[in-house]
Amino acid sequence: MLEVKNLNTVYVHRSGRIVKAIDDLSFSINRGDRLGIAGESGCGKSTLAYSLLRLVPTPGVIADGEIIYHGWGNPVNIVDLSEKKIRHYRWEEVSMVFQAAQSILNPIMKIKDHFFDTASAHGLRDKEEVIKRARDLFKELRLEESVLDAYPHQLSGGMKQRVAIAMALILNPKILILDEPTSALDLLTQKNILDMVIRLSDEFNLTTVFVTHDVSVLAGVVTRMAIMYAGKIVEIAPVDDIFYNPKHPYTAGLMNAIPSLTGDIKAVKSIPGEVADLSNPLPGCRFHDRCPHAIDLCRKIEPRLENIGDGRYVACHRWRDF
Ligand code: ATP
Ligand code: SF4
Ligand code: MG
Repeated sequence: MLEVKNLNTVYVHRSGRIVKAIDDLSFSINRGDRLGIAGESGCGKSTLAYSLLRLVPTPGVIADGEIIYHGWGNPVNIVDLSEKKIRHYRWEEVSMVFQAAQSILNPIMKIKDHFFDTASAHGLRDKEEVIKRARDLFKELRLEESVLDAYPHQLSGGMKQRVAIAMALILNPKILILDEPTSALDLLTQKNILDMVIRLSDEFNLTTVFVTHDVSVLAGVVTRMAIMYAGKIVEIAPVDDIFYNPKHPYTAGLMNAIPSLTGDIKAVKSIPGEVADLSNPLPGCRFHDRCPHAIDLCRKIEPRLENIGDGRYVACHRWRDF
């Protein structure tokens, strides 16, 4: 559905400092995928999600690369698309539930007016049609119809998040991107919402992308997972391989940082060192200053994301050793 090729997205600060939030990144999203994108805070996950919709906030720009969309039959490069066409692409083809979506709701607008605004911005002005679609989505998301007449402050966090998901689906997109869909919610609400999204994606044939800093959220939710470090994807694999047989030392570090329900709490290990500085990335492998397996080569040559078979890709000189 989407093919990202050598994407570079940067933030250019007034001081001249350039933050390379996405650095020469390539990967694909397949039809029907439930893909997770995970990594530590600040590694570029949201910037990647914004780039896929060509909605990178100022002072950010897509500096280079291609995002090829295949959903219209003929492949089109989203990076070059006219403003008119990109409006059809956003929300009608690919939509997004933004990080902290709950706070995006306007406190002085009823929920139904949010739906009218979103729909009419994309050419759907028939209010009855919008209400009908919102009602159907509310049923799927276990929201009472009366929520349409409520103001945001009258809803709980979980309800607001479900409203945000319904809003993202109002124009029947083919791909739904959810950026930290559950991070402000308690565990039970998290599980409820993720279960609903899985059901919806099966029912509506949706391709879904879950973005999170908390990998444990994605177990049992996604089928494939991409691990990001410092603006790059360092590993992509079926979800079980990521959890039980990681090939990249950073992925292994993330897995060791998840507490087990039954194991010894002392077995939980954090990854030593600081998150990489994206305005001044290290030469060679960006993880080399934190990696327990680094060798001389790692400090000099950057590893490429390599296809190692069985649907797995890894960017590490030493993956065969793990
Ligand atoms: P989190 O898990 O905290 O949501 P993230 O992985 O989504 O983090 P991004 O928000 O994409 O990370 O940020 C990647 C890098 O780009 C960070 O170094 C951040 O400081 C920088 N960045 C993000 N948004 C902006 C902005 N609007 N202006 C300048 N720099 C930004
Ligand atoms: Fe560690 Fe080297 Fe692999 Fe980077 S390339 S993750 S430093 S072993
Ligand atoms: Mg983010």
